[in-house]
Amino acid sequence: AKNSKSNSYQVFTPAMEKTSFKQFTLQNELRKAIVNNEFELYYQPKVNSKTRQIVGAEALIRWNHPTKGILSPFEFIPLAEETGLIVPLGEWVLQTVCKQVKMWEHNGFPPIIVSLNFSALQMLQKGLVDTVASILREHQVKGTSIEIEITESLILNHDSDLVEKLEALKALGIHIAIDDFGTGYSSLSYLRKYKFNTIKLDRSFINDIHTSLDNQAIIQFVIQLSNQLKMKVVAEGVELEEQLALLQQMNCDEIQGYLFSKPTPVGEFEKLLGKRGDG
Ligand code: C2E
Ligand code: CA
Ligand code: CA
Ligand code: CA
Repeated sequence: AKNSKSNSYQVFTPAMEKTSFKQFTLQNELRKAIVNNEFELYYQPKVNSKTRQIVGAEALIRWNHPTKGILSPFEFIPLAEETGLIVPLGEWVLQTVCKQVKMWEHNGFPPIIVSLNFSALQMLQKGLVDTVASILREHQVKGTSIEIEITESLILNHDSDLVEKLEALKALGIHIAIDDFGTGYSSLSYLRKYKFNTIKLDRSFINDIHTSLDNQAIIQFVIQLSNQLKMKVVAEGVELEEQLALLQQMNCDEIQGYLFSKPTPVGEFEKLLGKRGDG
C-alpha cells in the first residue's frame, strides 16, 4: 500500500491525528450519552462543622461509559463545554437534582440544600433564568432547596447581564455560591459587585492548612470577611481531623471532604442522610 495517510494530512502529525480522532469519537459518544441515560449524579455531603450533621450536598456528574467505565468530569466536561453539549447536559443535571430533591422530600428525609455546578456557557444562555424557573415549577421544587455554584473564571468572563441573571435566580429563592474561592485574579473585587450567599474555599488552601501558618492566616481572613459580609463559608477538600479542628476554631460554617465522605451514588448518600434523621 502506498503511503497515503501521511500525504493526505500535512498539518497533522500521526499522533495529533489519533488524538483528534479520539476526541471526535468521544464527542459522538457524548452526544448519545444523554439519550442513552449514561450519566449519573454522585452526591457529596456538606456537614455543619460543629455538629457534623449533614446540611447539604454537592451533586457531581459521572459518565458511566459503556466500555471505559466511570469517567470523571475532568475527562468530558471540557469537551462538553467546547461543543456546547454542556447546555443540554446542565439541564439534565438540574432536572435530575430536582427529581431527587422531590423524592427525598416525599420519602421524609431531612431537608438539605443541594448544590450544582454551572458552566460559563450555561450562564450565558439567553433563556437561562426561564429554563431554571420552568424546571423548578415542573418538579414543584422550591428555589430555596438548591444552590448554584459558579467559579471565579466564569465571573471574570461575565457578560453584561450576569448580575441581573444572578439576581433573577436569587429572586427564585436559589442560593448562589462562589466556587474555588481564592484561585482567581480578583477575588475581592467582585465581592463588592455581587452579594453571594456562600463562599467555597478552594481545596488548595485547605490541603496544607495544618502545616502552613500563612495559609491559616489567609483562611482566617477570608472567614472573618465572609462573616462580616453575611456569607456562609464552606471549606472543600477536608481530609484530616487536624484540618477540621482548625476550621472549627476559625468558625468555618460547613465542611465538605473525604474526611466525611467521598461523592457517592444516591443509594449510599441516602444511608448517610438517613442516619441524620435517626440521631
Ligand atoms: P468542584 O466543583 O470544585 O468539585 C469538587 C471536587 O473536589 C469534586 O471532584 C470532588 O470529588 C473533589 N473532592 C471533594 N472532597 C475532596 C477531598 O477531600 N479530597 C480530594 N482530593 N478531592 C475532593 P469531581 O467530582 O471529580 O469534579 C471535578 C470538577 O468537575 C468539579 O470541581 C466541577 O468543576 C466539575 N463538575 C462536576 N460536576 C459537574 C456538573 O454537573 N456540571 C459542571 N459544569 N461541572 C461539573
Ligand atoms: Ca463545585
Ligand atoms: Ca470547588
Ligand atoms: Ca475545583
